[in-house]
Amino acid sequence: MGARDKIRKFFLEHIGEVVTTKQIRRIAGISEYARRIRELRDEEGYRIMSHNDRADLKPGEYILGSPKRNPVIARSISPQLRNEILERNGYTCQVCGAGPGDPDVTNPGRKIRLHIDHIRPISQGGRDTKDNLRVLCSMCNQGKSNIQPPSETALNIITKLRKLGRSEQLEVYEFLKRKFEIQKEM
Ligand SMILES: [Zn+2]
Repeated sequence: MGARDKIRKFFLEHIGEVVTTKQIRRIAGISEYARRIRELRDEEGYRIMSHNDRADLKPGEYILGSPKRNPVIARSISPQLRNEILERNGYTCQVCGAGPGDPDVTNPGRKIRLHIDHIRPISQGGRDTKDNLRVLCSMCNQGKSNIQPPSETALNIITKLRKLGRSEQLEVYEFLKRKFEIQKEM
């Protein structure tokens, strides 16, 4: 059973009761429960309320008032838009810089997959607009990446590099190799 399934089950067993992040973290066995709660809201339509929705709840407290679900907002992004975002972001995770086919360090033997992420979640009013969409890798999408994220400048350059052809990438590689080999010799 995945983390989202465990959290869903826990909420459904405690309808109308205050549930705390401490309990959810213990049940799910992960610290990145916030994203899973958002998915239960956005993708499954569960009306999980937090202190943002109800004044009597403190931060870190949630309540599911009823097992009834809201109709789920269609959140499929068209293949054209998906391709456009992938192209714009140079097929590069905009948090850690990973690309498709890189090894998934959190999942030995598996390769990185890329996802389209809403920067501002749909549950918080985010929309399927280009400025609200970005590429995330499967690790960052699950909040599991523990890679030191590159600086914004480096990420910009990695993004550009991935769009180049192999021979141009090799030129950059040779340039950097020369630069750092000369430094080592000095
Ligand atoms: Zn990533």
